[in-house]
Amino acid sequence: MPCPYRLACLLCATLVLSALSAAPAAAAPPAMSAALPAPRDVAYPGEVRLEVDARDITRRIVHVRESITGLGSHPVLLYPKWIPGTHAPQGPIDRLAGIRFVADGQTVPWKRDPIEVYAFRPAIPAGTHTLEVSFDYLSPTSDRVGRPEMSDAILQLEWSNVILYPAGYAASRIPVSASLAVPAGWQRASALETDTDAGEQHRYRTVPLETLIDSPVYAGRFFKSIELDPATRVRLDVFADRADQLAASPEVVASHRALVAQAYKLYRSHHYGHYDFLLSLSDHLHFAGLEHHQSSADSTIANYFVEWNETPWDRDLMPHEFTHSWNGKFRRPADLWTPSYEVPMQDSLLWVYEGQTQYWGIVLTARAGMWSRAQALDEWAELAAYYSSVAGRRWRPLADTTNDEIVNPRRPQSWPDWQRFEDYYDEGALIWLEVDTLIRERSAGQRSLDDFAGRFFGVDDGRIAPLTYTFEDIVKALNAVEPYNWASFLHERVSELAPRAPLAGLERAGYHLVFNDQPNEQDKAREREAKVTDLWYSMGAVLSAEGDSEGMLIAVGWDSAAAKAGLTEGMKIVSIDGDEYSSERLKRAMVLAAHDQAPIELIVSLDKRYHSVRLDYHGGLRYPHLVHEGAGASSLDAILTPRP
Ligand SMILES: [Zn+2]
Repeated sequence: MPCPYRLACLLCATLVLSALSAAPAAAAPPAMSAALPAPRDVAYPGEVRLEVDARDITRRIVHVRESITGLGSHPVLLYPKWIPGTHAPQGPIDRLAGIRFVADGQTVPWKRDPIEVYAFRPAIPAGTHTLEVSFDYLSPTSDRVGRPEMSDAILQLEWSNVILYPAGYAASRIPVSASLAVPAGWQRASALETDTDAGEQHRYRTVPLETLIDSPVYAGRFFKSIELDPATRVRLDVFADRADQLAASPEVVASHRALVAQAYKLYRSHHYGHYDFLLSLSDHLHFAGLEHHQSSADSTIANYFVEWNETPWDRDLMPHEFTHSWNGKFRRPADLWTPSYEVPMQDSLLWVYEGQTQYWGIVLTARAGMWSRAQALDEWAELAAYYSSVAGRRWRPLADTTNDEIVNPRRPQSWPDWQRFEDYYDEGALIWLEVDTLIRERSAGQRSLDDFAGRFFGVDDGRIAPLTYTFEDIVKALNAVEPYNWASFLHERVSELAPRAPLAGLERAGYHLVFNDQPNEQDKAREREAKVTDLWYSMGAVLSAEGDSEGMLIAVGWDSAAAKAGLTEGMKIVSIDGDEYSSERLKRAMVLAAHDQAPIELIVSLDKRYHSVRLDYHGGLRYPHLVHEGAGASSLDAILTPRP
């Protein structure tokens, strides 16, 4: 394409010519690094023996030693970069220190590749038999440094954080014999099979690098293993801050067993030797989930079991991660599958990988009885309301948000609804609800998305090796269930600008979104847990309800009354109509303003300066709910009902 800035280019050319004539003779572009050897699907001619020592738990320091045989003359060792499940180049290489290479007893110098900084080149003598590698992995000690992975009672170990592996071979072809030492008296759980257990030191059976990295270990002081399905060896391995937090009532355990049973009715298969839910219940480790093929790393609140009735909002975590064993791990988007961790992943089908998983996560949580029907409806109400409010729909198609793990690896945003953020999860779920209800309507209730799930994920029962899929495969499988123009249906919702949220599924299912002045139960629980005041659907803002930051704006809607008044994230509301800020006072002012034309007078602070703001909002308090239309059960009720 010709340059549109011809004049500027002429100017540039002049500058470059004069710079060239003035440059010293030694000036030369820096040497590019030699290409990394591509991962080949051939057996690695040696072995990696990995010893991980996580006993310095209080300081969150992990000591790593490796013995690697089979290296050639100019080896490249790689730190895992593109981490499965995060879909992004997020391997925490900034946490490595004390790296040392010893070739047959001699310390050797090394260089990091200047282009690919995850690659190390140790200068080993020709004929080296064994390369010893050692380094420290410095796990975050506080939120300031990163998401904590350890507490004084729990260790969450992802092997991808603590290994360097030889370049040039597919991860499925490099054998690794790994051992892990944890503090005395701690117990461990993982999808890995054990070889030897010598007290604090635990050696696992040799597995391919791919299996090791896909099999995290949780360890801890307080542990309980709950059998969920003995026939297929599915276990819930629970680690907690305290022993009393391990106590789950028989009803709660039964709902987790029902989750496995309902998943089998849906997917008509399983693709693992055994499956371990690695669950940590902690106030020190954050809410998180990471899918693996034969396990999942699940982290939630310390009182998940003991305050079951007060903490409903994150219960779809395990149903979501379990679903990934079928969608994401066994069946995997073709452009997301890579032979090794240095090869970039492409996230174009995350609206299926995560979107449909989010859909089944919500549905299975309800079918298992982990949510009541009302709680599941509240969840759908929140999704429908939020995606109807997202201003970024006007400029950014949903498909583009599949790049967000790379564009913005979960850093806070100033204007989240204008920028959009990983909307393929929840908006994806709304689209799959639309697909499900459309199949049900067109087939007069004879078929549903359950049939798609059974056929698509239920192939090759027992097979563990990934089976990839493309957009065309999805369309073909949908057409096999119910003929329709699925390609353009999906293209329109995913790839084109869609200024209106995809709510047709809810409406077809017999529900519509309404707002009233009472928060639904899910939202109340979420506000309590997150310590926020959520006024997103009224003035258009979420405020902190915690300690010194109370009244601080955490998020402001781009099209909201709050934004029109000049409010922005980071400002703190100090007073309301002359009185000191409290969330109750702000809500009361909004209720009063619904009955008159006077704006609410606010004083806000930002960077130690105070501003008067007139909030011209008169819509009262608004919270989302679903209302059922007509008599009898709707198709959404049928979707949420357990399969017999
Ligand atoms: Zn997921």
